[in-house]
Amino acid sequence: MPGSTRIAEKLARSKQKPIPYGRQDITAADIEAVAAVLRSDYLTQGPLVPRFEQAIAEFAGAKHAVASNSATSSLHLACLALGVGPGDRVWTSPVTFVASANCARYCGAEVDFVDIDPRSYNMSANVLAEKLAIAERNGKLPKVVIPVHLAGQPANMEAIHALGKQYGFSIIEDASHAIGGRYRGEPIGNCRYSDVTVFSFHPVKIITTGEGGMALTNDPVLARRMARLNSHGITRDPAEMAALSDGPWYYEQLELGYNYRLTELQAALGLSQFNRLEDYVSKRHTIAARYDELLRDLPVVTPWRDERDYSGFHLYVIRLKLDEISSTHREVFDKLRSAGILVNLHYIPVYRQPDFAQYSFDRADYPEAERYYAEAISLPLFPTLTEADQDYVVGQIRDACGQ
Ligand SMILES: *Cc1c(COP(=O)(O)O)cnc(C)c1O
Repeated sequence: MPGSTRIAEKLARSKQKPIPYGRQDITAADIEAVAAVLRSDYLTQGPLVPRFEQAIAEFAGAKHAVASNSATSSLHLACLALGVGPGDRVWTSPVTFVASANCARYCGAEVDFVDIDPRSYNMSANVLAEKLAIAERNGKLPKVVIPVHLAGQPANMEAIHALGKQYGFSIIEDASHAIGGRYRGEPIGNCRYSDVTVFSFHPVKIITTGEGGMALTNDPVLARRMARLNSHGITRDPAEMAALSDGPWYYEQLELGYNYRLTELQAALGLSQFNRLEDYVSKRHTIAARYDELLRDLPVVTPWRDERDYSGFHLYVIRLKLDEISSTHREVFDKLRSAGILVNLHYIPVYRQPDFAQYSFDRADYPEAERYYAEAISLPLFPTLTEADQDYVVGQIRDACGQ
């Protein structure tokens, strides 16, 4: 592209709003759905939360769903319901949001990380197998393993599930990025290869409730346990009670739970958004395919897909081929940010966080996560991203890479 065109474009661009890496899409129907709840009798604990749970459970092909005020809460509930406690070990991917690891720490368990696969950026099933063999010899097997479907691309669930059977650990899928995606032709969330699957409805994710999350399972006991812990550990079901009911006001707290409930306002927004879920994911695929094409001759690695699967495409992560670029990763990132492109990096490997220093993780144990962290950039990807914005993003990458 000639330099003058580039400058003109930059000038025109400077009058426009910055392009975020992700953003929600709120329609008039969404607003009306929330307003209708405000005019109704129930702002919380009304009919819409169970309706939202049922809609997502049916869509994903799971028997039960428990909605919470965040995926972080859902992950915590899943760990508690699986009996995670002090002395237990929980393993997850280092390339994830901190919540995938913190859920175990809330329960007093120890967290460890399994290095990523260099192609999918998800927990490597091979590294997991090696680490399990060592852990078995040392008597330190994990109680729960939490694979994360990074960017919406499913982790190698068949292999992880088989290892779960062999070594006796439970599995929680952190599918915060992956609602609407499919693994081996089946919807993510059906828990064929896991005990619990968790979705997030944070505004940058695929559909939103403002804040919100959901835990899906096929196990009625886990479902019941998560639902109870979601609301103070309280039951109103006489069949679960320790004593006989004192009267119609009676309820029992059976264990120490939380107030992690989703509100009716949020469920209304979620149900309204859910109507557009498949459309959103397919738009994300269209945008991703266009990025693939536009970036083809640039010194970047574009996201790998497994042909058998269908990503939720929460993120479009590129990796810079730094040996073919004169700028550093940081310089490319800064140039894009200063051009109004709010690129991001998903994620800082969790073991690098200062709050995890107390566990003395060694970066050298995670060579693939370290390499990823040195090269990755998340480009803007959301359903309302325009082709003009996309062209601008790719033009700026071309410039920043000195091509
Ligand atoms: C967003 C996210 C979470 C936490 O979701 P919240 O709904 O914000 O609590 C957990 N894990 C991953 C991988 C996420 O991206």
